[in-house]
Amino acid sequence: LGEPDLRQLDAVDVGVAWPVPGPDDDKYSQGVAGIAAGSATYPGAAVLATGSAVLATSGMVRYAGPAADVVRSRWPEVVATGSVTDAGRVQAWVVGPGIGTGQEGRSVLRHVLAEGVPVCADADATTLMARYPDVLDARDPGTPLVLTPHAGEFERLMGAAPGEDRVSAVREAARKYDAVVLLKGNTTLVAAPDGRVLANVARGSWLATAGSGDVLSGLVGALLASGMEPWLAAGAAAYVHSLAADLGARGVPVSASGVQGAIPEAIRRLRSLE
Ligand code: AMP
Ligand code: MG
Repeated sequence: LGEPDLRQLDAVDVGVAWPVPGPDDDKYSQGVAGIAAGSATYPGAAVLATGSAVLATSGMVRYAGPAADVVRSRWPEVVATGSVTDAGRVQAWVVGPGIGTGQEGRSVLRHVLAEGVPVCADADATTLMARYPDVLDARDPGTPLVLTPHAGEFERLMGAAPGEDRVSAVREAARKYDAVVLLKGNTTLVAAPDGRVLANVARGSWLATAGSGDVLSGLVGALLASGMEPWLAAGAAAYVHSLAADLGARGVPVSASGVQGAIPEAIRRLRSLE
């Protein structure tokens, strides 16, 4: 990996950072994560992102979008509504997976960015930002933003593919958007606007499967809602995501739902290392 300022989190780093409720905590103090994801065409993205947030931390998860019925039936603990405009207060939003790249998605993204809480923008939300840069005007300056593009989404955001020097590319994107940028891949890079970059090297490649990115976005959202610093939240989410894939797969293909199902086991592993 080369560069001296390229950090790698280890299991102890992530285990120590992972939020754990104390005796004085309640569901609100542990963080309320909001998920704006899914559509009639892609209800699965909503189920994957929401369920991963449910499993990542204690606290509470709200869902807002057209897949409310499906989400409710899969995750009864989630408070689901049809629209972001009546979702209620959250401490962080995940926006993007499966929302589409049209006017509907654009107004959802604008609404979420204007709420003044940390936002993880994934998938269609990154495409919407590239297509309609004016949506970023809705963002309250200084409000944390985490972008989680794969290489294709990154290319749309930056107008150029990450290329050979992915570290420089992700750092430039973080500066351009004044955001934490998590560039997905076998080695996932996470850059902060101040130039810090961390790397997460995947153990295997079973995450190259449909829906796995939606699982990651839910993890990031839950950690942001818990109050974790955004660069660390993105890095810790990437770590647990790849560990869950490894544990869920155990040498054979694993579905995104299977990765999600292994999240508790991954967190258990980290915590026993404390
Ligand atoms: P998405 O493209 O949004 O579904 O996200 C895919 C997820 O799988 C990201 O977290 C990637 O880092 C991960 N991923 C995709 N391909 C690989 C691979 N070949 N090896 C390891 N991780 C991968
Ligand atoms: Mg994706």
